[in-house]
Amino acid sequence: MKIDKRADKYAELIIKSGINLQPGQTLVLSSPVDAAPFARVCAQKAYEAGCREVIMRWSDEAISKETYLHADNEIFDTVRPWKADMLNTLAQEGAAFVTIYSQDPEALSGVDPDRIRRSALASGKALETYRELQMTDSVQWCLFSVPNPAWAKKVFPEVDETEAVSKLWDAIYATVRVSEFNDPIEEWRIHNENLRTRKEKLTGYNFKYLKYKNSLGTDLTIELPEGHYWDGGRSHSAKGVPFNANVPTEEIFTAPKRDGTNGIVYAAKPLVINGDIAENFHFVFKDGKIVEIHAQRGQELLESAIATDEGSSYLGEVALVPYDSPISKSGILFYNTLFDENAACHLAFGDSYPCVHGGAQMTKEQRRAVGLNDSIMHEDFMIGTPDLSITGITHDGKEIPVFIDGNFAF
Ligand code: ZN
Ligand code: ZN
Repeated sequence: MKIDKRADKYAELIIKSGINLQPGQTLVLSSPVDAAPFARVCAQKAYEAGCREVIMRWSDEAISKETYLHADNEIFDTVRPWKADMLNTLAQEGAAFVTIYSQDPEALSGVDPDRIRRSALASGKALETYRELQMTDSVQWCLFSVPNPAWAKKVFPEVDETEAVSKLWDAIYATVRVSEFNDPIEEWRIHNENLRTRKEKLTGYNFKYLKYKNSLGTDLTIELPEGHYWDGGRSHSAKGVPFNANVPTEEIFTAPKRDGTNGIVYAAKPLVINGDIAENFHFVFKDGKIVEIHAQRGQELLESAIATDEGSSYLGEVALVPYDSPISKSGILFYNTLFDENAACHLAFGDSYPCVHGGAQMTKEQRRAVGLNDSIMHEDFMIGTPDLSITGITHDGKEIPVFIDGNFAF
Protein backbone atom coordinates (compact mmCIF):
# COMPACT_ATOMS: atom_id res chain seq x y z
CA MET A 1 0.00 0.00 0.00
CA LYS A 2 1.61 3.26 -1.11
CA ILE A 3 1.43 6.28 1.14
CA ASP A 4 1.72 9.22 -1.24
CA LYS A 5 0.65 12.82 -0.84
CA ARG A 6 -3.00 12.02 -1.44
CA ALA A 7 -2.99 9.19 1.13
CA ASP A 8 -1.53 11.58 3.66
CA LYS A 9 -4.25 14.17 2.92
CA TYR A 10 -6.91 11.48 3.09
CA ALA A 11 -5.77 10.35 6.56
CA GLU A 12 -5.70 13.96 7.69
CA LEU A 13 -9.22 14.51 6.34
CA ILE A 14 -10.47 11.49 8.30
CA ILE A 15 -8.89 12.58 11.59
CA LYS A 16 -9.50 16.33 11.39
CA SER A 17 -12.84 16.49 9.60
CA GLY A 18 -14.39 12.99 9.29
CA ILE A 19 -14.09 11.95 12.94
CA ASN A 20 -12.98 15.44 14.05
CA LEU A 21 -10.91 13.99 16.90
CA GLN A 22 -10.69 16.32 19.88
CA PRO A 23 -7.53 16.90 21.95
CA GLY A 24 -7.42 14.46 24.86
CA GLN A 25 -9.91 12.10 23.23
CA THR A 26 -9.35 8.33 22.90
CA LEU A 27 -9.51 6.90 19.38
CA VAL A 28 -10.63 3.33 18.72
CA LEU A 29 -9.26 2.42 15.30
CA SER A 30 -10.59 -0.74 13.63
CA SER A 31 -8.63 -1.94 10.64
CA PRO A 32 -8.01 -5.05 8.57
CA VAL A 33 -4.39 -6.18 8.87
CA ASP A 34 -3.99 -5.59 5.11
CA ALA A 35 -4.63 -1.88 5.66
CA ALA A 36 -1.95 -1.56 8.36
CA PRO A 37 0.19 1.00 6.46
CA PHE A 38 -2.80 3.33 6.18
CA ALA A 39 -3.90 2.69 9.76
CA ARG A 40 -0.43 3.72 10.94
CA VAL A 41 -0.75 7.07 9.19
CA CYS A 42 -4.16 7.56 10.80
CA ALA A 43 -2.70 6.80 14.24
CA GLN A 44 0.13 9.23 13.61
CA LYS A 45 -2.32 11.98 12.54
CA ALA A 46 -4.43 11.22 15.59
CA TYR A 47 -1.51 11.77 17.96
CA GLU A 48 -0.63 14.97 16.08
CA ALA A 49 -4.18 16.12 16.81
CA GLY A 50 -3.66 15.52 20.55
CA CYS A 51 -5.15 12.02 20.85
CA ARG A 52 -5.00 10.57 24.35
CA GLU A 53 -4.52 7.00 23.13
CA VAL A 54 -5.10 5.08 19.91
CA ILE A 55 -6.62 1.69 20.67
CA MET A 56 -6.24 -0.72 17.76
CA ARG A 57 -8.74 -3.40 16.76
CA TRP A 58 -7.19 -5.58 14.05
CA SER A 59 -9.17 -7.98 11.92
CA ASP A 60 -8.45 -10.42 9.13
CA GLU A 61 -11.04 -11.74 6.69
CA ALA A 62 -9.16 -14.94 5.93
CA ILE A 63 -9.10 -15.87 9.62
CA SER A 64 -12.74 -14.80 10.01
CA LYS A 65 -13.64 -17.21 7.23
CA GLU A 66 -11.68 -20.03 8.88
CA THR A 67 -13.55 -19.28 12.09
CA TYR A 68 -16.96 -19.36 10.41
CA LEU A 69 -16.09 -22.59 8.62
CA HIS A 70 -14.40 -24.55 11.36
CA ALA A 71 -14.89 -23.13 14.86
CA ASP A 72 -17.06 -24.88 17.42
CA ASN A 73 -20.72 -24.36 16.55
CA GLU A 74 -21.52 -22.93 20.00
CA ILE A 75 -19.22 -19.93 19.76
CA PHE A 76 -21.58 -18.17 17.32
CA ASP A 77 -24.22 -17.69 20.00
CA THR A 78 -21.99 -16.08 22.62
CA VAL A 79 -19.71 -13.08 23.01
CA ARG A 80 -17.05 -13.03 25.72
CA PRO A 81 -18.10 -10.44 28.30
CA TRP A 82 -14.71 -8.67 28.24
CA LYS A 83 -14.96 -8.27 24.48
CA ALA A 84 -18.33 -6.54 24.71
CA ASP A 85 -17.26 -4.62 27.78
CA MET A 86 -14.36 -3.06 25.93
CA LEU A 87 -16.51 -1.35 23.28
CA ASN A 88 -19.45 -0.58 25.56
CA THR A 89 -17.17 1.07 28.12
CA LEU A 90 -15.14 3.03 25.59
CA ALA A 91 -18.35 4.36 24.01
CA GLN A 92 -19.67 5.41 27.43
CA GLU A 93 -16.35 7.13 28.12
CA GLY A 94 -16.81 9.19 24.95
CA ALA A 95 -14.12 7.66 22.73
CA ALA A 96 -14.22 8.24 18.97
CA PHE A 97 -14.59 5.22 16.65
CA VAL A 98 -12.92 5.08 13.24
CA THR A 99 -13.35 2.01 11.06
CA ILE A 100 -11.43 1.18 7.91
CA TYR A 101 -13.88 -0.78 5.81
CA SER A 102 -11.99 -2.77 3.20
CA GLN A 103 -13.55 -6.06 2.25
CA ASP A 104 -13.26 -8.70 -0.40
CA PRO A 105 -16.93 -8.66 -1.57
CA GLU A 106 -16.96 -12.46 -1.62
CA ALA A 107 -14.79 -13.01 1.46
CA LEU A 108 -17.27 -15.28 3.22
CA SER A 109 -18.74 -17.06 0.23
CA GLY A 110 -19.39 -20.69 1.11
CA VAL A 111 -19.92 -19.94 4.80
CA ASP A 112 -23.17 -21.10 6.42
CA PRO A 113 -25.31 -17.89 6.53
CA ASP A 114 -26.91 -19.11 9.73
CA ARG A 115 -23.56 -18.95 11.55
CA ILE A 116 -23.18 -15.34 10.39
CA ARG A 117 -26.73 -14.51 11.43
CA ARG A 118 -26.31 -16.03 14.91
CA SER A 119 -22.98 -14.33 15.40
CA ALA A 120 -24.44 -10.95 14.36
CA LEU A 121 -27.34 -11.47 16.74
CA ALA A 122 -25.10 -12.41 19.66
CA SER A 123 -22.74 -9.48 19.20
CA GLY A 124 -25.66 -7.12 18.48
CA LYS A 125 -27.15 -8.00 21.86
CA ALA A 126 -23.85 -7.92 23.76
CA LEU A 127 -22.93 -4.56 22.23
CA GLU A 128 -26.30 -2.90 22.73
CA THR A 129 -24.85 0.04 24.67
CA TYR A 130 -22.21 0.71 22.04
CA ARG A 131 -24.70 0.35 19.17
CA GLU A 132 -27.22 2.67 20.80
CA LEU A 133 -24.59 5.38 21.36
CA GLN A 134 -23.48 5.03 17.75
CA MET A 135 -26.91 4.92 16.10
CA THR A 136 -27.97 8.05 18.01
CA ASP A 137 -24.69 9.76 17.02
CA SER A 138 -23.98 10.30 20.73
CA VAL A 139 -20.39 9.25 20.04
CA GLN A 140 -18.33 10.36 17.05
CA TRP A 141 -17.86 7.58 14.51
CA CYS A 142 -16.50 7.47 11.00
CA LEU A 143 -16.43 4.76 8.38
CA PHE A 144 -14.15 4.98 5.34
CA SER A 145 -12.40 2.67 2.89
CA VAL A 146 -9.02 1.89 1.39
CA PRO A 147 -8.49 -0.66 -1.42
CA ASN A 148 -7.44 -4.26 -1.08
CA PRO A 149 -6.40 -6.49 -4.01
CA ALA A 150 -9.42 -8.83 -4.03
CA TRP A 151 -11.87 -5.94 -3.90
CA ALA A 152 -9.97 -3.98 -6.56
CA LYS A 153 -10.00 -6.99 -8.93
CA LYS A 154 -13.76 -7.33 -8.46
CA VAL A 155 -14.25 -3.67 -9.42
CA PHE A 156 -11.70 -3.66 -12.27
CA PRO A 157 -11.49 -7.28 -13.51
CA GLU A 158 -10.03 -6.32 -16.89
CA VAL A 159 -6.63 -5.14 -15.53
CA ASP A 160 -3.95 -6.82 -13.42
CA GLU A 161 -3.98 -6.60 -9.64
CA THR A 162 -1.48 -3.75 -9.25
CA GLU A 163 -3.30 -1.59 -11.77
CA ALA A 164 -6.68 -2.48 -10.29
CA VAL A 165 -5.55 -1.34 -6.83
CA SER A 166 -4.18 1.88 -8.28
CA LYS A 167 -7.42 2.52 -10.20
CA LEU A 168 -9.45 1.87 -7.06
CA TRP A 169 -7.34 4.38 -5.12
CA ASP A 170 -8.03 6.97 -7.83
CA ALA A 171 -11.75 6.22 -7.73
CA ILE A 172 -11.84 6.49 -3.94
CA TYR A 173 -9.92 9.78 -3.91
CA ALA A 174 -12.40 11.23 -6.41
CA THR A 175 -15.38 10.24 -4.26
CA VAL A 176 -13.85 11.58 -1.02
CA ARG A 177 -12.82 14.87 -2.65
CA VAL A 178 -9.07 14.40 -2.22
CA SER A 179 -6.68 15.51 -4.95
CA GLU A 180 -3.03 16.47 -4.89
CA PHE A 181 -3.83 20.15 -5.23
CA ASN A 182 -7.03 20.85 -3.29
CA ASP A 183 -7.93 21.49 0.33
CA PRO A 184 -10.19 18.50 1.11
CA ILE A 185 -11.22 19.85 4.50
CA GLU A 186 -12.55 23.05 2.92
CA GLU A 187 -14.28 21.06 0.16
CA TRP A 188 -16.03 18.98 2.82
CA ARG A 189 -17.15 22.13 4.64
CA ILE A 190 -18.88 23.34 1.46
CA HIS A 191 -20.28 19.88 0.71
CA ASN A 192 -21.74 19.58 4.22
CA GLU A 193 -23.36 23.02 3.82
CA ASN A 194 -25.02 21.91 0.56
CA LEU A 195 -26.37 18.78 2.21
CA ARG A 196 -27.71 20.87 5.09
CA THR A 197 -29.69 23.15 2.74
CA ARG A 198 -31.29 20.13 1.08
CA LYS A 199 -32.21 18.31 4.29
CA GLU A 200 -33.82 21.44 5.74
CA LYS A 201 -35.91 21.88 2.61
CA LEU A 202 -37.15 18.29 2.73
CA THR A 203 -37.91 18.47 6.44
CA GLY A 204 -39.97 21.58 5.70
CA TYR A 205 -42.33 19.63 3.40
CA ASN A 206 -43.26 17.29 6.25
CA PHE A 207 -44.41 14.56 3.85
CA LYS A 208 -46.78 11.86 5.03
CA TYR A 209 -45.97 9.47 2.19
CA LEU A 210 -43.35 8.96 -0.48
CA LYS A 211 -44.39 7.07 -3.62
CA TYR A 212 -41.65 5.39 -5.68
CA LYS A 213 -41.97 4.23 -9.30
CA ASN A 214 -39.62 3.12 -12.05
CA SER A 215 -39.46 0.84 -15.08
CA LEU A 216 -37.72 -2.00 -13.19
CA GLY A 217 -41.11 -2.55 -11.60
CA THR A 218 -40.74 -0.62 -8.36
CA ASP A 219 -44.12 0.58 -7.10
CA LEU A 220 -43.73 1.37 -3.43
CA THR A 221 -45.42 3.61 -0.87
CA ILE A 222 -43.50 4.55 2.27
CA GLU A 223 -45.19 6.30 5.16
CA LEU A 224 -43.07 8.69 7.20
CA PRO A 225 -43.60 9.15 10.94
CA GLU A 226 -45.09 12.26 12.47
CA GLY A 227 -42.36 14.73 13.42
CA HIS A 228 -39.67 13.17 11.24
CA TYR A 229 -36.72 15.17 10.00
CA TRP A 230 -34.22 14.57 7.21
CA ASP A 231 -30.60 14.09 8.20
CA GLY A 232 -27.32 13.87 6.29
CA GLY A 233 -23.82 15.30 6.06
CA ARG A 234 -22.59 16.60 9.39
CA SER A 235 -23.79 14.89 12.58
CA HIS A 236 -23.26 16.23 16.10
CA SER A 237 -22.22 14.07 19.03
CA ALA A 238 -23.79 14.35 22.49
CA LYS A 239 -20.96 16.75 23.34
CA GLY A 240 -21.79 18.85 20.26
CA VAL A 241 -18.75 17.80 18.21
CA PRO A 242 -19.54 17.83 14.46
CA PHE A 243 -18.40 14.79 12.45
CA ASN A 244 -19.14 12.82 9.27
CA ALA A 245 -20.15 9.24 10.01
CA ASN A 246 -19.44 8.17 6.44
CA VAL A 247 -16.72 9.31 4.07
CA PRO A 248 -17.87 9.62 1.30
CA THR A 249 -21.47 10.66 1.82
CA GLU A 250 -23.97 12.09 -0.65
CA GLU A 251 -27.24 11.04 0.94
CA ILE A 252 -30.11 12.77 2.72
CA PHE A 253 -32.02 10.28 4.85
CA THR A 254 -34.82 9.85 7.33
CA ALA A 255 -36.62 7.01 9.10
CA PRO A 256 -39.77 5.42 7.68
CA LYS A 257 -42.80 4.52 9.77
CA ARG A 258 -42.30 0.91 10.80
CA ASP A 259 -45.62 -0.52 9.59
CA GLY A 260 -46.27 1.97 6.78
CA THR A 261 -44.48 0.50 3.73
CA ASN A 262 -46.46 -1.31 1.04
CA GLY A 263 -45.70 -2.50 -2.49
CA ILE A 264 -42.75 -3.84 -4.40
CA VAL A 265 -39.19 -2.58 -4.74
CA TYR A 266 -36.44 -3.73 -7.10
CA ALA A 267 -32.73 -3.53 -6.27
CA ALA A 268 -30.85 -1.38 -8.77
CA LYS A 269 -27.37 -2.69 -7.93
CA PRO A 270 -25.84 -5.85 -6.46
CA LEU A 271 -25.57 -5.88 -2.68
CA VAL A 272 -22.61 -7.16 -0.70
CA ILE A 273 -24.10 -8.59 2.45
CA ASN A 274 -22.52 -10.80 5.11
CA GLY A 275 -19.46 -11.44 2.98
CA ASP A 276 -21.17 -12.41 -0.27
CA ILE A 277 -23.19 -10.91 -3.13
CA ALA A 278 -26.95 -10.73 -3.71
CA GLU A 279 -27.99 -9.65 -7.19
CA ASN A 280 -31.15 -8.92 -9.18
CA PHE A 281 -33.55 -9.13 -6.30
CA HIS A 282 -36.80 -7.56 -5.26
CA PHE A 283 -38.81 -7.35 -2.05
CA VAL A 284 -42.56 -7.26 -1.52
CA PHE A 285 -43.73 -5.27 1.52
CA LYS A 286 -46.99 -5.60 3.41
CA ASP A 287 -47.69 -3.21 6.30
CA GLY A 288 -43.99 -2.52 6.68
CA LYS A 289 -42.79 -6.14 6.65
CA ILE A 290 -40.83 -7.84 3.88
CA VAL A 291 -43.15 -10.73 3.03
CA GLU A 292 -41.48 -11.94 -0.18
CA ILE A 293 -37.91 -12.03 -1.47
CA HIS A 294 -37.03 -12.99 -5.02
CA ALA A 295 -33.33 -13.06 -5.89
CA GLN A 296 -31.45 -14.38 -8.90
CA ARG A 297 -28.36 -14.62 -6.70
CA GLY A 298 -28.21 -14.56 -2.91
CA GLN A 299 -31.75 -15.73 -2.02
CA GLU A 300 -30.54 -17.58 1.08
CA LEU A 301 -28.23 -14.72 2.10
CA LEU A 302 -31.10 -12.23 2.04
CA GLU A 303 -33.57 -14.58 3.72
CA SER A 304 -31.10 -15.22 6.52
CA ALA A 305 -30.28 -11.50 6.94
CA ILE A 306 -33.91 -10.37 7.26
CA ALA A 307 -34.56 -13.22 9.71
CA THR A 308 -31.85 -11.94 12.10
CA ASP A 309 -34.35 -10.56 14.59
CA GLU A 310 -37.89 -9.20 14.69
CA GLY A 311 -37.01 -5.77 13.29
CA SER A 312 -34.73 -6.92 10.49
CA SER A 313 -37.62 -7.55 8.09
CA TYR A 314 -38.81 -3.92 8.43
CA LEU A 315 -37.30 -0.76 6.98
CA GLY A 316 -35.10 1.54 9.05
CA GLU A 317 -33.92 4.13 6.53
CA VAL A 318 -35.12 6.03 3.47
CA ALA A 319 -32.28 7.82 1.66
CA LEU A 320 -32.25 10.11 -1.35
CA VAL A 321 -29.24 10.39 -3.65
CA PRO A 322 -29.52 12.03 -7.07
CA TYR A 323 -28.62 9.89 -10.07
CA ASP A 324 -26.23 12.63 -11.21
CA SER A 325 -24.26 12.53 -7.92
CA PRO A 326 -20.48 12.38 -8.47
CA ILE A 327 -20.13 8.73 -7.41
CA SER A 328 -22.97 7.68 -9.68
CA LYS A 329 -21.51 9.64 -12.59
CA SER A 330 -18.21 7.78 -12.25
CA GLY A 331 -20.17 4.76 -13.54
CA ILE A 332 -18.17 2.46 -11.26
CA LEU A 333 -19.92 -0.35 -9.44
CA PHE A 334 -17.90 -0.52 -6.22
CA TYR A 335 -19.29 -3.70 -4.64
CA ASN A 336 -19.01 -1.80 -1.36
CA THR A 337 -22.14 -0.32 0.17
CA LEU A 338 -20.31 2.73 1.50
CA PHE A 339 -19.82 3.82 -2.12
CA ASP A 340 -22.75 2.21 -3.92
CA GLU A 341 -25.30 3.62 -1.44
CA ASN A 342 -23.94 7.08 -2.20
CA ALA A 343 -24.53 6.58 -5.92
CA ALA A 344 -28.23 5.74 -5.70
CA CYS A 345 -31.41 6.25 -3.74
CA HIS A 346 -31.54 3.49 -1.19
CA LEU A 347 -33.45 1.96 1.67
CA ALA A 348 -32.17 -0.01 4.62
CA PHE A 349 -33.82 -2.88 6.41
CA GLY A 350 -33.28 -3.10 10.14
CA ASP A 351 -32.51 -0.44 12.71
CA SER A 352 -33.65 3.21 12.33
CA TYR A 353 -31.65 6.30 12.99
CA PRO A 354 -33.75 8.33 15.47
CA CYS A 355 -34.90 10.83 12.81
CA VAL A 356 -37.90 12.22 14.69
CA HIS A 357 -37.65 15.38 16.76
CA GLY A 358 -36.25 14.46 20.19
CA GLY A 359 -35.64 10.90 18.96
CA ALA A 360 -32.06 10.66 20.20
CA GLN A 361 -33.25 11.25 23.79
CA MET A 362 -36.11 8.73 23.62
CA THR A 363 -36.00 5.25 25.10
CA LYS A 364 -36.31 2.31 22.74
CA GLU A 365 -39.95 1.89 23.78
CA GLN A 366 -40.72 5.57 23.09
CA ARG A 367 -39.10 5.32 19.67
CA ARG A 368 -41.12 2.25 18.88
CA ALA A 369 -44.26 4.11 19.98
CA VAL A 370 -43.67 6.95 17.49
CA GLY A 371 -43.24 4.36 14.74
CA LEU A 372 -39.48 3.79 14.47
CA ASN A 373 -38.04 0.34 13.83
CA ASP A 374 -35.30 -1.29 15.90
CA SER A 375 -33.02 -4.19 15.12
CA ILE A 376 -29.42 -5.25 15.58
CA MET A 377 -29.19 -5.17 11.75
CA HIS A 378 -28.93 -2.16 9.50
CA GLU A 379 -28.37 -2.99 5.85
CA ASP A 380 -28.66 -0.51 2.99
CA PHE A 381 -29.73 -1.66 -0.48
CA MET A 382 -29.80 0.45 -3.64
CA ILE A 383 -32.99 1.16 -5.57
CA GLY A 384 -32.25 4.37 -7.53
CA THR A 385 -32.38 4.25 -11.34
CA PRO A 386 -32.15 6.97 -14.01
CA ASP A 387 -35.93 6.88 -14.44
CA LEU A 388 -36.92 6.77 -10.76
CA SER A 389 -39.76 9.07 -9.78
CA ILE A 390 -40.63 9.87 -6.18
CA THR A 391 -43.72 11.84 -5.28
CA GLY A 392 -44.19 13.32 -1.83
CA ILE A 393 -47.71 13.48 -0.43
CA THR A 394 -48.35 16.02 2.29
CA HIS A 395 -50.74 15.60 5.23
CA ASP A 396 -53.36 17.65 3.36
CA GLY A 397 -53.07 15.43 0.28
CA LYS A 398 -50.93 17.67 -1.94
CA GLU A 399 -48.66 15.81 -4.37
CA ILE A 400 -45.19 17.27 -4.77
CA PRO A 401 -42.57 15.81 -7.13
CA VAL A 402 -39.41 15.00 -5.13
CA PHE A 403 -37.52 13.04 -7.81
CA ILE A 404 -38.08 13.21 -11.56
CA ASP A 405 -36.00 10.94 -13.81
CA GLY A 406 -33.62 9.95 -11.03
CA ASN A 407 -32.81 13.45 -9.79
CA PHE A 408 -34.20 15.96 -7.32
CA ALA A 409 -37.16 17.86 -8.73
CA PHE A 410 -36.15 20.99 -6.79
ZN1 ZN B 1 -27.81 5.44 3.85
ZN1 ZN C 1 -27.83 3.06 6.14
